[in-house]
Amino acid sequence: MSAQDHAIGASSSSSSPAQLPDPIVAKGLSSLLGAFVREHWRAYLIAGLMLTGVAILTVWLPRQIGHVVDALVGRQIGMAALLHELSLMVAAGIAIYFLRVGWRLYLFSAAYQLGQTLRTRLYTRLTLQGPRFFQQRRTGDLMANATNDIDAVEMTAGEAMLAGFDGTLTLVLVIAMMTLGVDWRLALIALLPFPLMALAFWHISRHVHEAWAQSLDRFSKLNEHVQETFAGVRTVRALGLEARSERHFSELAGKAADTSFDAQRWEAAYEPAVGFTLAAATAITLGYGGYLIWHEQLTVGQLTTFSLYLGNLIWPMFAAGWVLSLIERGKAAWARLGPVLHEPLTVEDTGTVARVPAGEITAAALSFTYPTQHRPALEQVSFTLQPGAMLGVVGPTGAGKTTLVRLLLRQYAPSHGSLRWSGLPLSDYSLAALRDAISWVSQEPFLFTASVADNIRLGKPEATRADVERVARLAAVHEDIMRLPRGYDTPVGERGVTLSGGQNQRVAIARALLADAPLLILDDALSAVDTGTEAAILSHMKQARAGRTLIVIGHRLSALVDADHTLVLREGHVVEQGNHAALLAHDGWYARQWRYQQLQASLDQD
Ligand code: ATP
Repeated sequence: MSAQDHAIGASSSSSSPAQLPDPIVAKGLSSLLGAFVREHWRAYLIAGLMLTGVAILTVWLPRQIGHVVDALVGRQIGMAALLHELSLMVAAGIAIYFLRVGWRLYLFSAAYQLGQTLRTRLYTRLTLQGPRFFQQRRTGDLMANATNDIDAVEMTAGEAMLAGFDGTLTLVLVIAMMTLGVDWRLALIALLPFPLMALAFWHISRHVHEAWAQSLDRFSKLNEHVQETFAGVRTVRALGLEARSERHFSELAGKAADTSFDAQRWEAAYEPAVGFTLAAATAITLGYGGYLIWHEQLTVGQLTTFSLYLGNLIWPMFAAGWVLSLIERGKAAWARLGPVLHEPLTVEDTGTVARVPAGEITAAALSFTYPTQHRPALEQVSFTLQPGAMLGVVGPTGAGKTTLVRLLLRQYAPSHGSLRWSGLPLSDYSLAALRDAISWVSQEPFLFTASVADNIRLGKPEATRADVERVARLAAVHEDIMRLPRGYDTPVGERGVTLSGGQNQRVAIARALLADAPLLILDDALSAVDTGTEAAILSHMKQARAGRTLIVIGHRLSALVDADHTLVLREGHVVEQGNHAALLAHDGWYARQWRYQQLQASLDQD
């Protein structure tokens, strides 16, 4: 979301983090999942009960088969009884099927809610963060956080928990049945290879973690490159950088694929470890089981049951490997996502006053230094702006004009001095109150993929078409819009008609006028329109302003002739100030610029 959208009535997006569910407050992945399970305990309990049913039926089946085999071997079962046994087994199979569908529905709908909550939380956090946060983070990284990383955490809450619970339960029940229900000596010997498998799993999972962490990181770098190339596609083409960009992309894609492959390769190592263990266990079972049958200490049916139980151990073994890899992936993802969610807001929304009353804006000895700079961008700036008055701010590039606007918008807090509105420091107001009170049009306004009319009514969705046309006329853009293929309904933005820089700026001015905030800031917002149109817009604005306070930042001084007061900034200091006449009389930077621009205008006319 652009800063402009923050400014114009975006109060609806300013829900505080405290309103979001508790789980997200957790710092570690385990406490996050613990809190989430506590919150959704009903879904997890029902899924758990269904899984228990599945596990009990799963261990009941081999035992039943063993009994039938023994009865068949001893010819102690009739056709009717056999059919009865078989129909019981089929019924158990059907019950297992429905219970499996049931737990999936309960558990995954809960896990998807975690994904949705995390995404909402991330989005809200990002909309509340100031420009400093976005300067420090890469867009591609944030996109990867919102997609890949949240998916991985969601999988841990769903699939991993499920497989962990199911696998453990099946393992315990199967081993209990093997030892207590069949023969404890056979169980003890047949299970000997399993501790070796646990050791192999531990070794593999360490590599899986490393590989996933690297893979998520590389995927995020790839994202970053794609995002930057598309955003700057015109520059890439203009400089003929397509081939270089393609090479770089293919290099990054190759690296991402390599690490992903590496992670998959380590994951694939779980399967042979399980296969080897089972093969060894089966060989032991047949050998020792045969010996016990030979000495009439075991029946054929019991050996069948035992072998089937060994087969039942495949799933818990796979589940163990799978759960470990999902947990490792979830941990790696949370290590990237957690810090973004917990990063303190660049400007905390601690103000409690919910509405900015009409009153003067005063800056007293206002100074500000960007966190990454040593030199102040503003130093000892003081002014008073009466409600309904117009303030001009001019000066060479880099003088600190936009910085002043950023402090007014509370994107940054002043380093020293004070900035007050109606007597209260800006920090006493909630950010939503400030955004409702300020309409800001930046130098490069952003239009969303929507119709021109919807872009104009962004800050006031309930506005009628007549209202939209009125402000478009004030912003001198109505005629331009009527020339578009579908007039006000023409789609603009990324996937619509591309407007010129000047048309963009005027649509943004119309948008800001419609938002009807008591303070309107035009930050070099007329730079792409010609002098005649600029004069027309300003004269319309003077008529329509009706008590609204106006701050105009510009390089063209003709826009500021009517300003009640103009500040001339240079290297962060106010070097001249006063109204147009006073500044001309002072005969400094402003007067020189004015003469130069007048001369240029008259030459242009010739
Ligand atoms: P222009 O007319 O070119 O828009 P400006 O008068 O609006 O310039 P600012 O954008 O306020 O100037 O910049 C004032 C100083 O602060 C400049 O030296 C600039 O390099 C620095 N600056 C601006 N934005 C940042 C930032 N986000 N981080 C660090 N330094 C910054």
